[in-house]
Amino acid sequence: MHKQSIYGLTYEQLTEWLMDHGQKRFRADQVWNWLYKKRINHFSDMKNLNKETIELLDENFVLDTLQEEIKQESKDGTIKFLFRLADGNLIETVLMRFNYGLSVCVTTQVGCNIGCTFCASGLLKKSRDLDSGEIVEQIMNVQKHLDQQGKDERVSHIVVMGIGEPFDNFNNLVDFIEVVNHDAGLNIGARHITVSTSGLAHKIYEFADTGLQVNLAISLHAPNNELRTSIMKINKAFPIEKLMKSVDYYLEKVNRRITYEYIMLKDVNDHKEEALQLVKLLKDKRHLTYVNLIPYNSVDEHNQYQRSDTATIQQFFETLKENGINCGVRWENGADIDAACGQLRSKQIKKKTG
Ligand code: SAH
Ligand code: SF4
Repeated sequence: MHKQSIYGLTYEQLTEWLMDHGQKRFRADQVWNWLYKKRINHFSDMKNLNKETIELLDENFVLDTLQEEIKQESKDGTIKFLFRLADGNLIETVLMRFNYGLSVCVTTQVGCNIGCTFCASGLLKKSRDLDSGEIVEQIMNVQKHLDQQGKDERVSHIVVMGIGEPFDNFNNLVDFIEVVNHDAGLNIGARHITVSTSGLAHKIYEFADTGLQVNLAISLHAPNNELRTSIMKINKAFPIEKLMKSVDYYLEKVNRRITYEYIMLKDVNDHKEEALQLVKLLKDKRHLTYVNLIPYNSVDEHNQYQRSDTATIQQFFETLKENGINCGVRWENGADIDAACGQLRSKQIKKKTG
């Protein structure tokens, strides 16, 4: 059994754990200050703790369940990290630079069971969920990399869009968000955190009930059931009507704009007809809607798909706009380093397994 990462504990969980182990309540503040503000690498660096407390932490927790295996930097400043977990599994994390700040894309599972036909991650079946510590450590590793550069740069945004279905690892996701969002933790604002789901409707209700004010993105990718089921088999379990019902609940409860991701697949879902169906689907909630058109990033194994032509993407965009749907096109970062979802990891595993 591997020791647990201390980064996986929320502030309340750590406080409770310390008190259960004979420590004063204020120790939690001290420990979190070392972890998230000073960002030390060893418990022995926690200078204002006594020897027994340090030993207690050392015996029960670790700070480094992630080991950096590869770090690739792209010309546009995107950095892709491949980490090895304590059990040998590989996961990836990406740092992207935008004019509004530095955004990190985190992985939530080793592989993914949703099996979308266009996605590299879905090719590798889920072997397990990441625990909250392994998700937080991805951000800590990136932040420590930035600290070492000495430019006083901070991770300002998080997107939960790496490998895995975050709502299939719900409790660890919620603990992760609490840690990075907490002002004694990394203090990254809820409005700077985006969680993307393939549309597990029952979890959208649950997510609304947490009261978290983070951004929700839903991978819609098609405006009707027939098409959506053909590219995302999860649509059988949660067809569009069920999904939209959960969306209505979320909007009523949280009243925050939802982003719908729509991957542009040539001749599959990129016709005017689909654009108009999408308008119809979303128009009664358009004040709380943003559609993100994502040009498909080709994945070697999925050569049945191609990226829509730029002109087609433009036309689709115009149709949405003309009909009052807020939308944008996401042109990718780090294209020269396989920064798309799951690509570095799947290539690395292929190399190793021949
Ligand atoms: N499992 C979650 C989050 C991770 S995927 C989800 O599906 O929402 C994050 C986003 O990347 C999703 O919208 C997904 O559809 C998209 N994506 C996956 N593979 C892609 C590819 N090859 N090209 C472009 N976008 C891709
Ligand atoms: Fe899983 Fe998301 Fe990829 Fe679908 S797109 S297989 S849900 S990671």
